Amino acid sequence: HAKANGRGRAEHFTEELADLIADRAQLESDLREALEQNQFTLVFQPQVAVWGGEIVAAEALLRWRHPRDGMRLPGTFIQRAEETGLIVEIGEWVIATVAETIARWGRIGIEQRLAINVSPRQLDHANFFRRLRAAMLAANAPARLLELEITETLAMHCSSEVIEAITLLRADGASIAIDDFGTGYSNLARLRDLPVDRVKLDRSLVEHIVENAEARTIAHAVVGLIHGIGCEAVAEGIETEAQAEVLRVIGCDVIQGYAIAAPMDEDAFIAWSRCEDRQQATG
Ligand code: C2E
Ligand code: MG
Ligand code: MG
Ligand code: MG
Repeated sequence: HAKANGRGRAEHFTEELADLIADRAQLESDLREALEQNQFTLVFQPQVAVWGGEIVAAEALLRWRHPRDGMRLPGTFIQRAEETGLIVEIGEWVIATVAETIARWGRIGIEQRLAINVSPRQLDHANFFRRLRAAMLAANAPARLLELEITETLAMHCSSEVIEAITLLRADGASIAIDDFGTGYSNLARLRDLPVDRVKLDRSLVEHIVENAEARTIAHAVVGLIHGIGCEAVAEGIETEAQAEVLRVIGCDVIQGYAIAAPMDEDAFIAWSRCEDRQQATG
């Protein structure tokens, strides 16, 4: 009896494994198709000054208009794209699209710094920085309107070649942000030596700053540390005005999150930023 049960479980397990492998293969071929059929799109989320509220930048976030599932978030496909190396091609699409967007917005009077997220596999790729530069030149987009977001963990493991390339890019005027700060393990001395302009406090660091005094103390110390290495502090995932108020008090520079605006498609972002201009002009 027990033996039969055991075999049943093993068969069940084998079936699940087969399903999993099939799902992964399907996702990979769907991702290839998405590239060919232009199913990717970008949405934009504003980052605003904690005092005054003017837009200082927007983060470009990847979306997949999936033919069957509707709009899919990066959490459902980025990891697979990394594993298969498809992230390199997807990343190139993101870079070209952001360069074109910067130029297009420039032509209608919106001088907006755009931040893109960069994956480890992309940075490993020897041609990454050359392609990035070529895309910006081809679109006639100034480098000073480009920011690269590199996760804390990735930043800690950059090769000296990558650091050199980043240094050159910054000399052109682009800026570098450390993303998801507080989720990895940073060597603070190394952080100080990296060519970085901004550090983004991960949502987990700011989630409880309103109701929890210790969380507030930690966030305050982290902001002090970021300023101490000569960087600007950006808090992400701000969902309430109360959080924004605490961040004002502890000296954070820039905030991003649903409390200000969710990520928007291009038209909505342009409308939103114009409406903000109007508010500042009148109030
Ligand atoms: P991230 O770079 O840390 O981006 C912030 C994420 O938080 C975004 O999720 C954003 O929509 C979400 N978010 C913004 N405000 C709030 C808020 O107030 N509350 C909460 N709970 N969430 C908020 P999204 O768009 O699903 O992206 C997830 C991650 O996928 C990003 O995290 C980034 O690591 C990655 N990603 C996004 N676009 C790209 C891309 O073009 N290339 C690469 N390599 N990775 C990307
Ligand atoms: Mg990011
Ligand atoms: Mg982040
Ligand atoms: Mg994050």
